[in-house]
Amino acid sequence: MKCKVCRGPALAGFPAHNANFCAEHLDQFFLRQVEKTIRRYQMLQPGERVLVAVSGGKDSLTVADVLDRLGYAVRGVHVDLGIDDNGFSSESTALCREFFTARGLPLEIYSLKERFGRSIKDVGRRFNRFCSICGMTKRHVMNARAVEQGLDALATGHNLDDLSAALFANLMRWDRRYLAKGLPSLPPEGGFCRKIKPLALLSEKEIATYAAVRDIRMVTATCPYSREAKFKRYKELLAAVEHQSPGTKRSFYEGYVKTASVFQVGGQAAPALGPCAVCGMPTTVEVCTFCKLWRST
Ligand code: SF4
Ligand code: ZN
Ligand code: ZN
Repeated sequence: MKCKVCRGPALAGFPAHNANFCAEHLDQFFLRQVEKTIRRYQMLQPGERVLVAVSGGKDSLTVADVLDRLGYAVRGVHVDLGIDDNGFSSESTALCREFFTARGLPLEIYSLKERFGRSIKDVGRRFNRFCSICGMTKRHVMNARAVEQGLDALATGHNLDDLSAALFANLMRWDRRYLAKGLPSLPPEGGFCRKIKPLALLSEKEIATYAAVRDIRMVTATCPYSREAKFKRYKELLAAVEHQSPGTKRSFYEGYVKTASVFQVGGQAAPALGPCAVCGMPTTVEVCTFCKLWRST
């Protein structure tokens, strides 16, 4: 297997791009792909300030690495969830800290235990729900920190495998609300910061290979509350189709982005948003779910 560019030994093959690359040319290819995605979906202007939500996993750390290399002013925020049965949160937090320190970039560690005296483990147990509470909490904190710091955008590490599987699942249910929001870039509105997904057109394999080339260390412990990977069935089905016809996932998702406006027209009216009486962040009720959950005694 030879590199498409230099004809030297290739590190890996990427059938969706009909190409194999050595480490050096995979690095160049990856940066170019993210740059093109940013321009195509008008995610960022040169030099804009972006908050990257980092979990300690490969996708979010890769986003921070690439945006920094492309010249954007990167800051990070990491929510310390306090899930420590197997060292999951302490390892995640330490890796994020190590990554940002090595690059001289600012990182905020938002510890739930320090701020509210409780962790996801404590609150999740009380309601016997972990992932939905955890997801809501992380989304709230990340948006609030981006808005409060007056940053231009909030970036997350969603990749093509996640987005195409979510699209498939939401299409199966004709879930218009989610279908209207699955875009790679969402404009700022109603107290929400602009949200961007710079890895939207890159697969898990492409990201993992880039992360290995860049020597990005990622969390090895698994969250004890993760039961099954989200949309696992849909990921498996799409992987089988992709194996037969490389490039299908990308054209499926790109096609959706071109036509997504149909899901916004004539759908159910979105509930009106107003500021939360406690934190000021957008909500459809008087006090937002985050404040009810974390700020109540
Ligand atoms: Fe949070 Fe669930 Fe992910 Fe664990 S698996 S980090 S509880 S969303
Ligand atoms: Zn090469
Ligand atoms: Zn609130």
